[in-house]
Parts: sequence; structure tokens; C-alpha cells
Amino acid sequence: MSIKGSVKNITDTIKYKDETVDQQRQDRNTIRGLSLALAVITSVMSWMNYNQQQHQMMVATLILTALLVCIFVLSLLVKVRKLLELMLCVALSALCVYFALTGGNEGFAILWALLFPPAAMLLMELIYGTSIGLFFEVFFIVLFWTPLREVVSEYYSQTFMMRFPMLYTAFFFLSFLAKYLLTKKEIAEHNYIRTIENLSMIDQLTRLPNRRSFEERLNQEWNRAVRNQEPLSILFVDVDKFKVYNDTFGHLQGDRALQAVAEVFSKALKRSMDFVARWGGEEFAILLPNTKGDQAFSIADKVREQMAVTDIPREDGEITNVTISMGINSITPSLDCSVDDFIRCADDALYTAKHEGRNRVCRYTEQQSVS
Ligand code: GH3
Ligand code: MG
Ligand code: MG
Repeated sequence: MSIKGSVKNITDTIKYKDETVDQQRQDRNTIRGLSLALAVITSVMSWMNYNQQQHQMMVATLILTALLVCIFVLSLLVKVRKLLELMLCVALSALCVYFALTGGNEGFAILWALLFPPAAMLLMELIYGTSIGLFFEVFFIVLFWTPLREVVSEYYSQTFMMRFPMLYTAFFFLSFLAKYLLTKKEIAEHNYIRTIENLSMIDQLTRLPNRRSFEERLNQEWNRAVRNQEPLSILFVDVDKFKVYNDTFGHLQGDRALQAVAEVFSKALKRSMDFVARWGGEEFAILLPNTKGDQAFSIADKVREQMAVTDIPREDGEITNVTISMGINSITPSLDCSVDDFIRCADDALYTAKHEGRNRVCRYTEQQSVS
């Protein structure tokens, strides 16, 4: 992969955020466990500071303990995990800055800052963890490697101030790498699941939704139509004499014809809520929400006409054509209507269309046909 490609790959991973991550974010147990564990650690530190007569440090660690206990209690009561994460990060950042600027206990407290990059990566998404890690990277460099070092030179030796930013960089880089690899794995799994989902919902030959997705959509639209008392129309479509077409031109050409049929449907149905699917074999189903019988009939007849005049070229350049028959059922469903009956009636209408000579549209209610 080129350098440009690798950089894009890394930035895409850093920016990655999707609903599965969001779902994990709902889980407040991590926050709960972490804030409690940190509260225990800081209270022990506070007690040690008390014993060593380090009053300033004792107060700082006590405030932090109180803040962590608050976060723990809030995590039991509040559902907004983002806010808790933010509070935890602010608390840790404040402590980090305080330790760095005051030297803590004999200049050792700053070593806790090394735990900051892994903690930020654990708590937050890669992009936020990286931003916070980078912020402290710059903070330590500016504090120790610029004239600002005079402010803290009382607590830290020159060697320490040279080496600490490097040590921090190593911790930061390793934490970034671990989180980056984990996020990459997450993206791969997420994409894999999406592909499987798509494969199970889309017909591979025509690229139309398959019967399963049609049934799902039908249920949604049915419920909406019941709720809003809106009309709903369903069209069942069958390619005429397709066995003969296959026998004459071959199965591969038959596949091409089915793709052409799907294309005619996709182009003819302009409203975003209209839904066309391959029901199976040479049969298709179309759902027209908020559409009365008359409108559905007129749409269906236009599609039928369009299909009849669509040229389907063979590999040798010869032109072939297919016709379709359609059965329509339209109702404004109520709670006591059944989806199965709705489908069955459209199928009955299709049967009538076939029976009456094919290349026609038949409505269930009137059982009349138009060629
Ligand atoms: P009718 O007008 O009564 O519907 O007659 P028909 O020949 O279309 O109906 P029939 O059920 O006898 O035959 C359907 C044909 O559709 C048989 C089958 O080989 C063909 N078929 C079903 N699925 C596919 C497919 O994916 N590709 C191809 N090429 N043919 C298919
Ligand atoms: Mg059939
Ligand atoms: Mg057929």
C-alpha cells in the first residue's frame, strides 16, 4: 500500500465511530468500575499524604476522591455515559496537571501521568483518546523543554525533565497502537456483519431486495397504514412464459432478462417509499404505500407497457422481449385485517391475469383485466 493509502487507512480508523460502538458506550459498568477503583487508590494516596504531613497533596487527592465517588454515584443514577466519561477525563486531567505543576510528593506524583494515555484510550473512542494523549504530550514538552521549566525546576532534575517526555511518548504510542489495532479489528468485524446482512437481504442476480426484506418492509408499511388509516397497494408480478424464453435462449440469457425486468421496475418507481423486490424465480413484488387502487393500477399498467417495449439484447446482438402479468390488491387496512389475506388476494389477481391471456394487469376487487 502507498504511503498516502496507509495515512488514509489510519485516519479512517481514528475517525471510526458507529452504532455498535455507541451501543457499547451505553454500558456504564466500565465507568463504574474504573471510578470506584480510582477512588480507592486516591483515598489511599490521600491517607499516605496525611501520614507524611503533605497537606496540599492530601487535599488534592481528597478532592479527587470526592469527584470520583460522585462519578460512581452518578453512573448508578444517570444514563448519559458520555457526560460521565467527560467528567472522569476532566478529573484525571486536572490531577495530572496539578501533579506536574506542584511536583506532588517529592516529585514522584507526576509518574501517575504515565497511566493517563492507556486510561483515556480505554475510556474513550480512539479520536478522543488520541487528542487527550497528544494534549499532554505537548503539555509536558512545553513544560519541561522550554523556559517554562523554571516554574517546576524545584521539583525535577534536568535529567528527569529530559527523559520524562520521552517515557510519556512511549506510553502514549503503545496505548495508541493497542487501541488502533482493536478499533481496526472492530471495523473489520462490523463490515463483515454488514456484508452478511446485505447478502441475506439482497437478491444477488437482480440486486433488488429479496423476499425476506420485502416481508419486513410489508410489515412496517402495514402497521403504518393501520395507524394512519392510509391505503396500501401490493403488486404481484410474474414474467410471462419465462420457461419458453429460457428454453429458447438459454438460462444465462434468462438471467439477463430478469436483470432487465428489475431495471424497468427500479426506473419506473420514482417515489422513495415504493419498494420492489424479487419474490423468487421470475416473480417480483411491489409495495406502494399510501396508494389507492386506481393509482396503483395506472402505475402497474405503465410498468407493464414499458416492459413490453423494452429491448433485451442477446450476446449476438439480436433483440428479445418479455411481457409481464400483474395482480394488484389495495386496501386501507384495519386491525382485524390480515397481511396473509392481503398477499393472497394479490396472488389471486395475478392468477386471473394469467388466466385471461397474460401481459395484463388485474385488480383483486373488481377482477377485471386490461391488456
Ligand atoms: P407463466 O406465464 O404461466 O408464468 O409461465 P412461465 O413459463 O413463466 O412459468 P413457469 O413457472 O412454468 O416457469 C418459470 C420459469 O422461470 C422456470 C424457471 O427455469 C425460470 N426461472 C426461475 N428463476 C430463474 C432464474 O433465476 N434464472 C433463469 N434464467 N430462469 C429462472
Ligand atoms: Mg411463476
Ligand atoms: Mg412466469
